[in-house]
Amino acid sequence: MSTTRLSPLLIDRRQLHHPLDAEASAETALIHADHGMREAFGTPNPPVFRTSTVLFETQADFEHAHHEQDHAFVYGRVGSPTSWALEDALRAISGAELAVLAPSGLAAIHVALASVLGTGEHVLVTAGVYSPTERLCRETLSRFGIRHSIVDGLSLPAIEAALQPDTRALYVESPASNTLEVPDLQAIIALARARGIAVLSDDTWATPLYARSLEFGADFSIHAATKYIVGHSDAMAGVVLAQGPHAARLLQTARNFGLCLAPDEAYLALRGLRTLPVRLRQQGESALALAAWLAQQPQVHAVLHPALPGNPHHANWQRNFRGSSGLFSFVLRADKDKASAFASALRYFAVGASWGGYESLVRVYPPASAPIPEEGPASLVRLSIGLENPDDLRADLQQAFTQTFG
Ligand SMILES: *Cc1c(COP(=O)(O)O)cnc(C)c1O
Repeated sequence: MSTTRLSPLLIDRRQLHHPLDAEASAETALIHADHGMREAFGTPNPPVFRTSTVLFETQADFEHAHHEQDHAFVYGRVGSPTSWALEDALRAISGAELAVLAPSGLAAIHVALASVLGTGEHVLVTAGVYSPTERLCRETLSRFGIRHSIVDGLSLPAIEAALQPDTRALYVESPASNTLEVPDLQAIIALARARGIAVLSDDTWATPLYARSLEFGADFSIHAATKYIVGHSDAMAGVVLAQGPHAARLLQTARNFGLCLAPDEAYLALRGLRTLPVRLRQQGESALALAAWLAQQPQVHAVLHPALPGNPHHANWQRNFRGSSGLFSFVLRADKDKASAFASALRYFAVGASWGGYESLVRVYPPASAPIPEEGPASLVRLSIGLENPDDLRADLQQAFTQTFG
């Protein structure tokens, strides 16, 4: 009995991808973008293509697919309909021309920097970035002759003064990790673009839904998809969303590095992405309510949440983002031991790395550049607000204050 089977040659990525109705909102796009899976396989979700090899009937077919590898299913490392579906969904909601997937957020940051910088060139990095990003520059990129310097992202004159003749990239993370300062991103991007400097923006906090960096003209919007996009603390993933003249070299660099996202992780990230709008809305709302409550507690010196009216970065936040997510910090009037006791006394907030999942997390940090009281000890406490009922989270914070401070 003869059977017919789909030839991999028939799978052309451009035909699978349904360009979305420009009118569709992100929520609707995420639900109705079936990425051609319905027609190709009869399923709303993509199959998880766990494969390295894709089999062809003839040498000629293989050569054709290999030649067309940006659009054909030819080898596990260069993508599969599973990873295409995730990339297409990310492009649909961000407006990016290109989405490059990576096995972690940090790997996405690495490929983004490596694609715009070469030996003897300089990258200007705003203060307060995710510390492994700074370490990547200091310990590894430096060995390839790529120099970096750190600048106060809140001061345009400082940025201008820190530019060097061979500055090729400006790397900004907004809001800054842990202290949540928000630079004037629009002005920073304009300044860099006027000088032909590539702008890379780590937009993990805002996700592709609330970030506006690409709209402002950034070349790359980078996301640790591990956080809100995956959203369930069950996978690691990173993405660089790109537009403009640097996109082609980003793709080339990612291919040459052998970067890929495993199919199970791509599936989990797409599954998470479908519900990102509702999760983010709820987590953002709960976080803002808890931030406002914390600001009234006597043990709290300051709440660092840019969407809170009265926060020094509120105006920049309003201009730079479409919303706020569930991560913020506060300065607790306590030394490290007492702050640690407070964190440990919480029942619904576990202590752990990462954030953006469905469960609430807490971490204690030294106050570093955060505003501190004139007198007495201070610690920075960072909360990632999950999907618990915010009333329960408030009660939990209250009982931890009582237990720790009496
Ligand atoms: C977590 C994080 C990263 C790194 O993401 P991983 O997936 O853990 O590698 C990068 N940037 C920011 C702002 C982060 O919070």
